[in-house]
Amino acid sequence: MKKIQMVDLQGQYEGIKEQVNASFKNVLDSAAFINGPEVHAFQKELEEYLDVKHVIPCANGTDALQICMMGLGLKPGDEVITADFTFAATVEVIALLGLTPILVDVDKETFNIDINAVKKAITPKTKAIVPVHLFGQCADMDALLKIANEHKLFLIEDNAQAIGATYTSKTGKKSKAGSLGHVAATSFFPSKNLGCYGDGGAIFTNDDELAHTIRGMVNHGMYKRYHHDVVGVNSRLDSLQAVVLRAKLPKLDTYNSLRRNSARKYNERLKNQPYIILPKTVNNCEGICDTCDCHVFHQYTLRITNGKRDALVKHLNENNVPCGVYYPIPLHQQKAYVDERYKETDFPVTNMLVEEVISLPMHTELDDEQINFITKLIIEFVN
Ligand SMILES: *Cc1c(COP(=O)(O)O)cnc(C)c1O
Repeated sequence: MKKIQMVDLQGQYEGIKEQVNASFKNVLDSAAFINGPEVHAFQKELEEYLDVKHVIPCANGTDALQICMMGLGLKPGDEVITADFTFAATVEVIALLGLTPILVDVDKETFNIDINAVKKAITPKTKAIVPVHLFGQCADMDALLKIANEHKLFLIEDNAQAIGATYTSKTGKKSKAGSLGHVAATSFFPSKNLGCYGDGGAIFTNDDELAHTIRGMVNHGMYKRYHHDVVGVNSRLDSLQAVVLRAKLPKLDTYNSLRRNSARKYNERLKNQPYIILPKTVNNCEGICDTCDCHVFHQYTLRITNGKRDALVKHLNENNVPCGVYYPIPLHQQKAYVDERYKETDFPVTNMLVEEVISLPMHTELDDEQINFITKLIIEFVN
């Protein structure tokens, strides 16, 4: 059996090696390292894939989130609601800009932001909601769009984990994750579903004016060379990363369906086992099917309900199976983000999930032998 890895980037590279190596050489020969033709071509290709009017590439996903908030003109004191159960980058940029993060609980089945908790958190100071499409599945965007419209709030999608996922609204309309809110941020960190070979990120929007504002902001607030109209940042995608992303984008749907296939196999083997709750796919779609990209499984995450999650992590690791706990500490308990406004009783689900979740190896190169080995270890453990 091949060594099991949490993410297998070497295996995936084999499939795009010739193209990437040849294009790397072209970039080296041309010396157009930043904002060159490769970056521009990638931007256009991603706009087409996502069916959005504007993609603005930038240096990483954290910058992308920050620049979304700068572009929308959010000001210190404005409250921004986001999920307690996510990667810290989401709340970090809110705090960095002097905005007030308002963390709320999540749904125990989807791990995504809890709609009732969002409603309860809205005050006259609320300016934006940042749903995170956690682990590869969209938050309840129908409900969030309705709330945002009613209260005149911005909806900023953190799409770092769900690129390529489709959201089906109650009306049946299908849209790509990241094309539904006012603006979205994504990350091309190597382990993401569409990852480059370094850092990278992008912002998407259908709003022409916002796109113009943001295009200047990523480049020191310059709209005309050496005229700095607003305070900006330096956040650019480099051409070598664009080369990798251009090689991978045409394969993204295939990559995501490989992930779904692995998720389906995990589900089949682990169903009806004691103390295991399988990840739930919603989005008006039942189960996981080949044709359906409503969940792109950035992570395949189980809940272990017998209180022995940490022992299972140890058991897997001892058998050379890597796994992850995303995330082990709720953001409201992190030293940087504690706030007296929070009560532990505000976060019953997040507080439970941090004790129960375990993410299994998930990537495009997993094979049946590996999945059988991993699931056999888990089944033995819970029985
Ligand atoms: C990875 C990630 C980010 C940050 O992306 P970077 O490119 O690492 O800065 C933000 N939000 C979520 C949910 C992520 O998973």
